[in-house]
Amino acid sequence: MSDNQSHLASDWRSEGDRVRCELCPHRCLLGDGQVGVCRVRRNMNGRLVAGGYGLVSSENVDPIEKKPLNRFYPGERIYSIGGWGCNFSCSFCQNWTISQQVGISREQGAGGGANGAGSEELGEGGNSPAEIIEHAIRSGGIGIAYTYNEPLISFEFVRDCAILAHEAGLKNVLVTNGYINSKPAEELLPLIDALNIDIKCIDDSFYVAHCGGHVRPVLDFAVQAVSAGCHVEITNLLIPGLNDNDSQVVALAEWIANNLGRKTPLHLSAYYPQFKLNVPATTLQQVQHAHELALQHLAHVYMGNV
Ligand code: SF4
Repeated sequence: MSDNQSHLASDWRSEGDRVRCELCPHRCLLGDGQVGVCRVRRNMNGRLVAGGYGLVSSENVDPIEKKPLNRFYPGERIYSIGGWGCNFSCSFCQNWTISQQVGISREQGAGGGANGAGSEELGEGGNSPAEIIEHAIRSGGIGIAYTYNEPLISFEFVRDCAILAHEAGLKNVLVTNGYINSKPAEELLPLIDALNIDIKCIDDSFYVAHCGGHVRPVLDFAVQAVSAGCHVEITNLLIPGLNDNDSQVVALAEWIANNLGRKTPLHLSAYYPQFKLNVPATTLQQVQHAHELALQHLAHVYMGNV
């Protein structure tokens, strides 16, 4: 077990009597006892603590295509874990029970984990990286996928697991919103074999209105991941009337082709009403139309959730 309430975070500095977290573009400035936008990183007595270190909300052994990754060890399975919290606040979050809350019971969380740690609340201990590696090896999968909630806000835990996973010959996969600063990304990416990065829309106005963030850091991270030699696939959740018009789909596909490469897989995923947003679900016809548009620019476009 690890002590998840006192694990010192990386990437922060003192500013007077407060601390500045420099892990993600929010750059939260936190007074004593305050927690960041992500709900897990906290100023405790003038030190930034990686709250939730080792806490697992969900655990499953999934087909790798479910991440989704269609062109990275197809047909294999991967041990998949999630924690709590997120540095975005998407109104349409499909995993909001674990991303927008901290410390609820596992039964309420996405993925229906089964390792006995998910029902714990912050402060009750968590899994050590060595325990996670043991679970991953026992699962028989090719490695570990850090997924379900936003893994980048658990930077220290993902990094520590990823180091041990590589030593054990396991692959590391991140399923992420890509909202991280370039310096910590530079430290993490050499440990990561493959990523699915969620680009929610090519328009910054969409990120501001619906996610509580900006698109530019996400795009920069995707370029950084490709430059680091990682296998990268992109997901775009199509929400009718909000981010699925032809010009948005084409602009995203063109950006991917021009900046990540034409062979970068794009997953166009259907939205279902979740959390705070209640627009009608994406129809099969809408996904098919976007698929046709994107295929004019990219070699591998997949339809998801249909
Ligand atoms: S990781 Fe959390 S605490 Fe740090 S800047 Fe981002 S939202 Fe704020």
